[in-house]
Amino acid sequence: MAIRLHFWGADQTVTGSSHHIECAGQNVLLDCGLFQGKRQQAVEINSHLALTPEQLKAGVLNAVVVSHAHIDHTGCLPLLSKQGYTGPVYTTPATIDLCIPMLKDSAHIQEGDAEFMQRRQSRRKSIHMPEGPPPIQPLYTQDDAAAVCALMKPVKLHTPTIVAGNKDAGFTMASWNAGHMLGSTCVLMEGTEEGQTVRLLFSGDVGRKNLPIIKDPDQAPAADYLIMESTYGDRLHAPAGDVKAKVAALVKKVIGRGGHIIVPAFAVERTQQLVLMLHELIQEKLLPEFPIFVDSPLASAVTDVFKKHTEDWDEGACAFYNRGQDAFGWNRLRFTQTVQESKALNDLRVPFMVMSASGMCEAGRILHHLRNGIEDPRNLVLLTGYQAENTLGRKIEEGQKEVNIFGEPMQVRAEVDSIDALSGHADQQELLDWMAPVAPTLKKVFLVHGEPAAQQVLKGKIEERYKLEVICPKRGDRFEIA
Ligand SMILES: [Zn+2]
Repeated sequence: MAIRLHFWGADQTVTGSSHHIECAGQNVLLDCGLFQGKRQQAVEINSHLALTPEQLKAGVLNAVVVSHAHIDHTGCLPLLSKQGYTGPVYTTPATIDLCIPMLKDSAHIQEGDAEFMQRRQSRRKSIHMPEGPPPIQPLYTQDDAAAVCALMKPVKLHTPTIVAGNKDAGFTMASWNAGHMLGSTCVLMEGTEEGQTVRLLFSGDVGRKNLPIIKDPDQAPAADYLIMESTYGDRLHAPAGDVKAKVAALVKKVIGRGGHIIVPAFAVERTQQLVLMLHELIQEKLLPEFPIFVDSPLASAVTDVFKKHTEDWDEGACAFYNRGQDAFGWNRLRFTQTVQESKALNDLRVPFMVMSASGMCEAGRILHHLRNGIEDPRNLVLLTGYQAENTLGRKIEEGQKEVNIFGEPMQVRAEVDSIDALSGHADQQELLDWMAPVAPTLKKVFLVHGEPAAQQVLKGKIEERYKLEVICPKRGDRFEIA
């Protein structure tokens, strides 16, 4: 017997997580994420799922298992239902509640971007300018997003659930808290056939100890094979203590020169640590009061999901929350819901901070804020998460002097800085430590969700410390594990 692995996303890159596994004639997809990068390449990659529309319509795919709600792990789920999938999607209750507004928003962003590009195209035509690239069709609509959310089935942590076939021939899953974001998990898939079982552990995104609000990662369960992320495989995060001082100094400087702080980030969740930090700095009178806007139509929905899922909070968060009305600084945030409110920020002449999606500056309202603010040297673009290759965020992070926003060249005159330590991703040492309890039984490790340079460094470290074989698959690679 064997499990057949088919790698289909986040292979030698960090977005588009998707792995197809098969055992005893049962097919399961682990994650179905959106690839983010160069537009044409993204369109090409995102429109081809691991299974064809014919296979999906014929019911070849038995189940989907989702590790957590980030768009690079879930953003192609609506396409799955658009192309004919009607089976179950298993994940945690918090992930389901996050996916409902997030996938709807993702569809909305794609519809909006496609429309914007089309309008631009017609304007160019009307003044006899050369036509740009052909108009982009949205990958899926808000109806497709709603359709796939209706297929989602909640699973309890640490509890085996048969997801495809039966206990003698098929897959059983069990999930553990990954400590990466609310509801995030690593997933153990047990494939059984002919009386034999192979245990495959999928790390999802590995989180970190002491992240605010959410619980620390669980100890990883025993397994025969491991598919592990490697985002920060070649880096160590700065100690958290230094970050607060850095944030204080940066913000003070920008406020002093009357600038704006533009933070590309997913609403609330990724920046929660930043908000907490600012809240503390203002309370300690190390920073003056200043407005913090969360410019996202789904921000308040996501805040409500956070408030609802106290089962995923750590003890400190529960105690902290019970002590005060605004323990996390959420009341400091001003949510902008409509496009008009969002646009009104452009005219604001006082210093402020605005957080807006997407975190890698690929889509969404952040593009409008960057277009309005990136050429002003008083402003600061503050990156708080990992910036994938070929994304606008990476170009800004690398210090390019000119970048294209909505196809127009813009001069980067604003200050640019980034804070890795706010990341929800384990760094190299934390990844090595996370896999320590699994290592003794492992036969092989597959590294995914990392760029080649980071993967090579981490591969070397794993080989050295655990004497294990490490493979960095490419998209489309197939393996048999037994
Ligand atoms: Zn993630």
